[in-house]
Amino acid sequence: MLAQQQVTALKGVGPKQAEKLHKLGLFVVQDLLFHLPLRYQDKTRLIDFEQVIVGSEALLEGEVFAQTLTRGRRNSLLVKMQSASGEMLTLRFFHFHQRQAQQFTRGKTLRVFGEVRSGPTGLEMVHPTYEFINPDAPPALDDSLTPIYPTTDGLGQISILKLVKQAIVLLKQAPLEELLPEGLLFQLQLPLLNEALLTLHEPQPTDNLQQIKQFCHPAQQRLIIEELINQQATMQQMRAQEQARHAPAFKVSTATDDLLGNLPFTLTHAQQRVWQEIQQDLTQPHPMQRLVQGDVGSGKTVLAALAAIQAAKAGYQVAIMAPTEILAEQHLQAFTEWLAPLNIPVAFLNGRMKVAEKRGMMAQIESGEAQVIIGTHALFQDAVVFHKLGLAVIDEQHRFGVHQRLALHEKNNLDDVHTHQLIMTATPIPRTLAMTAYGDLDLSVIDELPPGRKPIETAVLSNEKRFEVMQHLVAKCEQGIQAYWVCPLIEESELLHAQAAEVTASQFTEQWPDLRVGLIHGRLKGDQKAMVMNAFKAHQLDLLVATTVIEVGVNVPNASLMIIENAERLGLAQLHQLRGRVGRGDLQSHCVLLYQSPLSQTGKARLNIMRETTDGFRIAEEDLKIRGPGEVLGTKQTGGLQFRIADLKRDSEWVPIAKEWADILIHNHPGLIESLQARWIGQKIDYQHA
Ligand code: ADP
Ligand code: MG
Repeated sequence: MLAQQQVTALKGVGPKQAEKLHKLGLFVVQDLLFHLPLRYQDKTRLIDFEQVIVGSEALLEGEVFAQTLTRGRRNSLLVKMQSASGEMLTLRFFHFHQRQAQQFTRGKTLRVFGEVRSGPTGLEMVHPTYEFINPDAPPALDDSLTPIYPTTDGLGQISILKLVKQAIVLLKQAPLEELLPEGLLFQLQLPLLNEALLTLHEPQPTDNLQQIKQFCHPAQQRLIIEELINQQATMQQMRAQEQARHAPAFKVSTATDDLLGNLPFTLTHAQQRVWQEIQQDLTQPHPMQRLVQGDVGSGKTVLAALAAIQAAKAGYQVAIMAPTEILAEQHLQAFTEWLAPLNIPVAFLNGRMKVAEKRGMMAQIESGEAQVIIGTHALFQDAVVFHKLGLAVIDEQHRFGVHQRLALHEKNNLDDVHTHQLIMTATPIPRTLAMTAYGDLDLSVIDELPPGRKPIETAVLSNEKRFEVMQHLVAKCEQGIQAYWVCPLIEESELLHAQAAEVTASQFTEQWPDLRVGLIHGRLKGDQKAMVMNAFKAHQLDLLVATTVIEVGVNVPNASLMIIENAERLGLAQLHQLRGRVGRGDLQSHCVLLYQSPLSQTGKARLNIMRETTDGFRIAEEDLKIRGPGEVLGTKQTGGLQFRIADLKRDSEWVPIAKEWADILIHNHPGLIESLQARWIGQKIDYQHA
């Protein structure tokens, strides 16, 4: 009932008020019950002055002892308040009326609430809430903690509190349906839903406030797990739906062995294992949905090529999607080298192609003449239609959005036949996060690098050493190595990025005219970028000054030195990606992270992690803890991870339990899933169909 009742059913909520509530994601009365307090104030007991804790909030009582007005840059009113046992506390007001100041006459009894700080003359409170009371008949204390809710413009604390109170009255009349199985609640010792909601909106003095503050109270855990179960169940449903679909089965092809025989290397054990998994998936009449995670340089491209061969030899088309032009170019070269000897033509579609050229290519894709097509986002465009798309490979998936992953289904001319999907990412994703963000995919991990790679040595240096680092770099280049210099900026403007890189490049050329310096940034045209990249690959350039456009996939084995400026501004996952551009050949590689001092303690700790390890999974775990899932997955990936209560940074340990119980629910109580979805996803953007 409360799940259907619009917020306008509440007293005092007209269309205007409703609109503001919608802004907070509150549409029906039930939503208000799930709008949980951010924190609580404790006005249930008076604290002795000696027992106050600096930095925490307290309710105190005392007498006005003196008041002073100080004039200065900011006028302030100071009221000295004395406790029954003689201790002093100063109340400090910056905004006040003359009349207000006059009220604080000596001997009056005050009750104040606020955060206690330590000030110039001892304990003080800045702008406390206060009331004058009659000491002989003091007003009663609150009997429950005061919740503080998230608010929005024009909808303050008091209005929200009133609305929640109304919702609670309604809840007591018509409790919400319990959707979690008794067994789960019993096993984890968690309260029933209605009980949990009441505890969180109206916690009693006997409730463990410390636990509530730390978000580990059973009432909160119960809601967190319910939300995570809903998310897991929704993902599993999507997966089941996909798996029920039909896809072409490609039988194992001997041509893949031909490629393996032609390669100058043998696959690592990890590559072999993952290739087996992919090969097996492709023989099934249901669409493969596999995510391959492999650290930078672990050799994902060759697996994509093997999969492409199996599909192409079965007579189907393959689309290979790369997030940047540079990477697409690079794939074009590698695929052509590997597939041409097997008589599989490789075609290219690029957003920057001339119109006529592009039309021609699109016609070839539609007719089926183009079989393996490599491209950028251009391959997603509506106008591109495939004749017989059997396999789509999405490389460096973290650069694409979820939407693009799903939109593929509509690209095929074949009725009711779905495309196998191979998704590759170099972003190591902690297991719990992968289960949440990619619960609808099978996971493969390439947890081994090709032999002979030496771990990159990383140094963390202050920007004050910048010139010395430049000198060192030049000396190294004179010995024949190649280097990258990366200039990230915090601004989201390509123009500023480009300028920073341009300035650095010209500093080098002015100081060292013999150094062959290339410059690459997002504002260059695709063919310009490709030219610079090819020159660097061919060692016609010693140094490549770049913005973060080189982050993904670029492969130049002779480049063994990388400098990253303003490293403190980047996430660890991104630093790891960037650093992965070196250490790709036999040379010992080095990376220097330059930071702008002063650097905070956490800033230092973060960069030290980069120095200590090159293990992408460990780095990702740290990033998840420090910066949250958006940083680890890339912001575009977090669409489906907008939780109301759960927080993957904090609650990731619940994910495996939620997954287990989502399975149980799907099998034993499938009817409950829809109710869970209505409760938790409700009128929020429906991400499963987005
Ligand atoms: P990533 O996983 O980052 O996409 P790539 O596929 O670009 O890595 O591979 C990096 C380099 O390693 C390429 O030059 C590739 O040819 C090479 N490579 C791949 N697998 C092996 C292997 N098993 N042994 C040696 N070199 C390999
Ligand atoms: Mg790659």
